[in-house]
Amino acid sequence: MNIRIGMGFDVHQLEEGRNFFLGGILLPDAPKGAVGHSDADVLIHALCDAFLGAANLRDIGFHFSNTDERWKGKDSKHFLKEVIKLLADKGWRVGNADCTLVLEKPKINPHIPAMKKVLAPLMNVSEEEISIKATTNETLGYVGRQEGVCAYAVALIYKEIPSVMMKAE
Ligand code: MG
Repeated sequence: MNIRIGMGFDVHQLEEGRNFFLGGILLPDAPKGAVGHSDADVLIHALCDAFLGAANLRDIGFHFSNTDERWKGKDSKHFLKEVIKLLADKGWRVGNADCTLVLEKPKINPHIPAMKKVLAPLMNVSEEEISIKATTNETLGYVGRQEGVCAYAVALIYKEIPSVMMKAE
């Protein structure tokens, strides 16, 4: 089996009076929301970059430019779906993904099951293959001042090697 790993990182500013889309859901109890060209879902953007990186297929900005009117206000679930399609075209399937969100508010833990439920079908995996963790930045820096939110993701992808190639010489 051919196995590859990739990592992704993303940051978005936070602003009052905005919807906060995170992990494919709208957070119901958020004091601020993320600012961006699309829906600014920092978790999905980090995941997209982890998958693209694993397959060596450039990055999310290369495929979905933040100056392209088509992606203005776009639901980031669309990007993840397209990224998984790009990988599938090259024969790659998702193994698992592990993500860490860094933000002060709101508490993310109650929303993690809902995020996994939304993300799993987009990645063609079960919820078991997606890990989402959250931590605060202990009030330090831009995350600590609630000026921004960031996300890290790592992903493993794999390709079955055709059985003909696995036969002993
Ligand atoms: Mg982004």
